[in-house]
Amino acid sequence: MLTSSRNRHFAHSNLALTDRTLVKKCRNCGRYFVVKNLNVEYCSRLIDPDEESLDNRTCSDVGPKRSYMKKLE
Ligand SMILES: [Zn+2]
Repeated sequence: MLTSSRNRHFAHSNLALTDRTLVKKCRNCGRYFVVKNLNVEYCSRLIDPDEESLDNRTCSDVGPKRSYMKKLE
């Protein structure tokens, strides 16, 4: 888990991104993950990590589609 002090640090480092570690909250699963690019909104975790599962999609695969579907409804 990340502490709130880490989040404060992140907020203050927006103008000096260079080689710092950036952490964002995934818009699909809500977990924090490390990004190199602030434009990234979704992590690359498997949405169904079960070994038996044939579903190998990740949040970054399904996240954008999910919000797109919502707009259509
Ligand atoms: Zn995610």
